[in-house]
Amino acid sequence: MSKPILGIIGGGQLGSMLSVAAKKLGVKTVVFSDDIDAPAQKFSDVFIFGKYDDQNKIDEFISQVEIITYEFENIPYETLNQINKIKPVLPKPSINRIIQHRLAEKDFINKLNIRTTQYVSISNKSELYTVKDLLPGLLKTTTLGYDGKGQHLINSIEDVNELDIDFSKGYILEKLVRLKKEISIIITRFSDKKYEIYEPIENIHEDQILKQSSIPADISDKILKESKLWAMQLAEELRYVGTLCVEFFIDRNENLYVNEIAPRVHNSGHLTINAYNVSQFENHVRAVCNLSQIKLNKISNAKMINLIGSQITVYRNKQFESNEFFFDYLKKEIKHKRKMGHLTTLF
Ligand code: ADP
Ligand code: MG
Repeated sequence: MSKPILGIIGGGQLGSMLSVAAKKLGVKTVVFSDDIDAPAQKFSDVFIFGKYDDQNKIDEFISQVEIITYEFENIPYETLNQINKIKPVLPKPSINRIIQHRLAEKDFINKLNIRTTQYVSISNKSELYTVKDLLPGLLKTTTLGYDGKGQHLINSIEDVNELDIDFSKGYILEKLVRLKKEISIIITRFSDKKYEIYEPIENIHEDQILKQSSIPADISDKILKESKLWAMQLAEELRYVGTLCVEFFIDRNENLYVNEIAPRVHNSGHLTINAYNVSQFENHVRAVCNLSQIKLNKISNAKMINLIGSQITVYRNKQFESNEFFFDYLKKEIKHKRKMGHLTTLF
């Protein structure tokens, strides 16, 4: 069977790792990015630089590929939907529309009787004075947030008084969960009831940015089963095709909550490259390109640390042990809080 040419929207580290996985499978890739220095161009077969609303560039991209996927969820729905009319976009744009909007996402999750933290839509400052029950809480932009960007911690009404933000963007207030720990589940859905699911990953965040991920997660059997069940229910209900990540909170009373869903490969799943026979990236390419499904097999326990900002420089000159795997995302510029690479250690 001939393999389709895969278009990837976005050219960061996720696009790079998807391209590497595709190459291994003999799938050609075309990366489309609005960043002229996008690192994924070093790994893709073709690179197209253009703004995401440049119709000529979009047409050029579409003409060169057979299937399209994306490495980040913040692409306008209209753009994805328009592309989808010409060539199939996976995951479907309608899925992305739900998940890229924190309110629609939480409504969707709760409709399935899956627990999230309490939340309310906020459209102006005065509304915040009427929702004291949700304090302390996090005020988040409904769209375009990542790595904790666009989030404000509100401990009390005094904090509301001092808030100076533009509410026209649309906000959601989420009650703060007293965290015991955070886990995530990476799942690849191929078709009806056909999945490959990775074991829960334990995550540590610093300044709302993922710092460390490890397997096995130190969690109860009940949480293990519940988190896997919820991830499967969410993927099935969305009729999802490809790799998806569900981020969870566990509170101090051992209650599980879904924090958010990422309709794409995910940072916490980078350790799957070395710890499993098939990585989250390879599984994503297999699912969206309709290639065969291989039974997942764990090779090793693992810990991954993100190398953020200038932390990368030390690692660039380091010697590694045979159980250590260093990934440099080859980003042109080192920036504060920018994910520059990661290190996975097997044990
Ligand atoms: P992003 O889209 O930036 O990843 P998240 O909603 O996942 O945003 O928030 C980033 C991190 O902030 C979470 O992983 C968690 O550590 C913390 N956080 C977010 N929302 C809550 C909440 N309601 N209660 C407790 N911690 C939270
Ligand atoms: Mg998150």
